[in-house]
Amino acid sequence: MTRPARYDILFEPIKIGPRTMKNRFYQAPHCTGFGDVFPGAQASHRAMKAEGGWAVVNTEATTIGPEFDWAGQMTPSRMWDDDDIRNWSLMTEKAHEHDALVGMQLHAGGGFLTGFDSRLPGRHIHNRLEEAGWLGSVIAMDKSDIREVQRMYVEASLRAQRAGFDIVNVWGGESASLPVQFLMNVHNQRTDEYGGTLENRARFWLETLEQVHEALNDDMVVCARFCIDSLHEGPGGIRVEDEGVGFVELADDLVDFWDVQVGGEHAELWIKDAGPSRFYEENFQAPWVRKIRPHTNKPIIGVGRFTSPDTMVDAIVSGQLDIIGAARPSISDPFLPKKIEEGRFEDIRECIGCNVCVSRINARWHLICTQNSTAGEEYRRGWHPETIPPTSKPDESILIVGAGAAGLECAVTLGQRGFKNVHLVDAANDIGGHVEWIANLPGMSAWRRVVDWRRAQLAKLPVETIPGKHLSADDILDYGADNVIVAVGASWAPDGMNGIAHAGVAGASSDMPNVATPEQILRDGKVLVGEEVVVLDTEGYFMGASLAQRLRQDGYSVTLVTHFPGPSPYFDLTGENVHMRPLLEQLGVKIVTEHLITEFVDGQARGSNLITGRPTAWNADSLVLVTQRNANTTLHTHLDQTITESGVAIRLFHIGDCVAPRMLVADAIFDGARLAREFDHSDPAVARRYIRERRLIGATDDVYDDMLRVGLPR
Ligand code: SF4
Repeated sequence: MTRPARYDILFEPIKIGPRTMKNRFYQAPHCTGFGDVFPGAQASHRAMKAEGGWAVVNTEATTIGPEFDWAGQMTPSRMWDDDDIRNWSLMTEKAHEHDALVGMQLHAGGGFLTGFDSRLPGRHIHNRLEEAGWLGSVIAMDKSDIREVQRMYVEASLRAQRAGFDIVNVWGGESASLPVQFLMNVHNQRTDEYGGTLENRARFWLETLEQVHEALNDDMVVCARFCIDSLHEGPGGIRVEDEGVGFVELADDLVDFWDVQVGGEHAELWIKDAGPSRFYEENFQAPWVRKIRPHTNKPIIGVGRFTSPDTMVDAIVSGQLDIIGAARPSISDPFLPKKIEEGRFEDIRECIGCNVCVSRINARWHLICTQNSTAGEEYRRGWHPETIPPTSKPDESILIVGAGAAGLECAVTLGQRGFKNVHLVDAANDIGGHVEWIANLPGMSAWRRVVDWRRAQLAKLPVETIPGKHLSADDILDYGADNVIVAVGASWAPDGMNGIAHAGVAGASSDMPNVATPEQILRDGKVLVGEEVVVLDTEGYFMGASLAQRLRQDGYSVTLVTHFPGPSPYFDLTGENVHMRPLLEQLGVKIVTEHLITEFVDGQARGSNLITGRPTAWNADSLVLVTQRNANTTLHTHLDQTITESGVAIRLFHIGDCVAPRMLVADAIFDGARLAREFDHSDPAVARRYIRERRLIGATDDVYDDMLRVGLPR
C-alpha cells in the first residue's frame, strides 16, 4: 500500500541543531518504570520504537545527582556518575541500529524528591516542603549551590554524550523540576538575582542551558522541555502569554528545538499533560501551543495523544507544530510511523487514552498497555508487536469459545503465527465481550478501539469468526477441533459478594427488580426502580464511579458508597480522579467513603463505618452491586471433566477473566496473547520463564552482558 501524498510532510527530514531527524515523529520523554534499574527492558522498549520508525526516542526524566533522588516516587533513572554510562549505552546502541536519534531528559526535581535511596536532602529554590515533596527534605540553595547544580547538569550531559546520546533535554516540564519552578512565582520568592522579574526567574535555566551548550561544543542537540502553561488559575504558575512566550524569547538562541507541553500546577498534576481520553480530546494542547509560534525561530514539538495522521498533518500545516511528539501513542503502537508511512492505517493500534500505562508507573512498577500486549515485554519475554514467530504446527485446529478481550487477542495472535484452522465463536451477536458494553459508559467510547483493531486484523487473517452461535459443552466436544480455548469471561456477583465483608449483601439479589449488576444495566438495559439509587463499589476502578455518573445523568438521586478512603482509588493511579471526583460532586452524586453495605431491607441499604463501626443506613429504592466479578468457570470445568473421563484427544485451555477476573482489560488481553505466543511449547497452559533483571552473584560482566543482549536460557 502507498500512503496518500498529503501525509508526505510527516516524513520530511528536519534539522535540529547539529543533527537531522529522518522524519517528524518524536517519542516524547516518558516514564516506563524501567529507569536504569532494568537496563535491558529500557533499551529494548525504546529500540522497538526506533524500529517502528520514530526518528527520536527519549529516556524518562533522569536525575543528575543523588540530591535529586526520587526513589519510591518513580523507578530510579539516574545519570549520577561514570558507572551509569555503561547501562545507558545499551539503549543508544540498540536505538541507533534503527537509525533513530536518542535523547536523555535531565532532571533535578527541586522539592519533588524523596531521598529514600540517597538519604540526602534535596536542593531547592526555598526551604519549604510541598506537594509531592513531602516525603523528602530540602535546603534552600545559595549561589554556590546553584553553581554546583549547574555543574551537575553539565557533567550529566557530558556523560550522556559519552553514552552515545544525541540530544540532551534540560527538563522544565509539568512543574516538576528546578528550571521551571524557578520561573513560577508560587515557588520563587527569592530576592536575589534569581527571583523577581521574569529575566531573574529565568536566569537559572538560561545559565544552565548556556553551560550545557558550551560544554557539548555543538556536538549534541540541546533542547528544553517546557511547561508553557501550568494551568494555574491564580498568578503563581506559568501563563503562556507571560512566562510562556517570555521564556521562549529569552532562551530561543540557547535551544535547538522546543519540546512544549501544557498542564501541571504542581508535580502531582503532571497527569494533565497525559490527559485521559475520558476528559481530553486528541490534540487538546493546541490552543496554548499555537501562541508560541510567533516567538521562536526553532522547531516546535508538542504532544496531545496523536493517533490520527490527519490531525498530525493539520498540526504541522497550520504551523502549530513542526514535529509530532507522542508518548502514549508510541506505547500503544511502536510502529505508528511505519504504518502511516506505508499507508497501513487500519493496522494502527490506536491508544485508547485509558492511562493504564500511567497507572502502573504511578504504582511504582513498569508500564503495561491495554492495546499493546507486548509493551514492557520486549526484553524480558522477547515479544515483538509486529513479528511473531511462526508456528511449527500450522495445521492444528483451534476452537476459541468467547470473543471478548482475551479470546480476540488470542485469535489474532494465533492467526498471525500462521495457524490455518482457528475458529472464534461467541454466543453474542457481535464480538468484543464486555468491552463492547463498558464502552457505553460516559467518556469511555474510545475503549471500543480495543475491539476495532482486533476486528480489522481478524478480517485479514485465516481465522473464522462466528458470532451469534451458542456452543454447549457437547457441541464443543463434537466440533472436531484439536484444541479448545475457553474464554467466556466473568460475571458481576449477583448478591454483592465481596472480599471486605467476605459475604454478600443480605437481602440483595440481582433477580429482584430493584437490584442490579453492571451488566444488567449496561448490557441488558435493566431499568432501576424509584428515584433513590445506592451504588455499592468495592472494586475501586471505573465501574462504580462511571455508573454513578451515568445514573445521575439519567436523573436518579445517587449515593456512591465505598469502603475505600476515596471513590475509585485506581483512578488516582490513572490520573482520572483529578477530574472525576469534582465531576461527581458537581453532578450531585453523594459520596460516602470508608463504609460498607451489608444489608438491603425495607427500602434501605444498611451498613456501617469501617473505622468506627457506627451503623448507618441510606434510603435506596434500588441498589447497584459493583462488588466483584466471578469467573465463568462452569463450561471449562465441565469440559475438563468430560475430556478426562472420556479420554478424547482434545487439548483444553482457558484464558482471561474466566480463569480469574482481571480488573484491567490489559491483563485479560495479555493472558490471551501469552497462550497464543507460547502455544507450540510442551505445556502452554503454564507460563514460560521470563528474564528477571537483577544482579546475579558470581556473574561476570560478560555473562551479564549476554543476559542483556541474548536473554536467559529457558
Ligand atoms: Fe494508551 Fe491505554 Fe496503552 Fe496507555 S495503556 S498507551 S493510555 S492504550
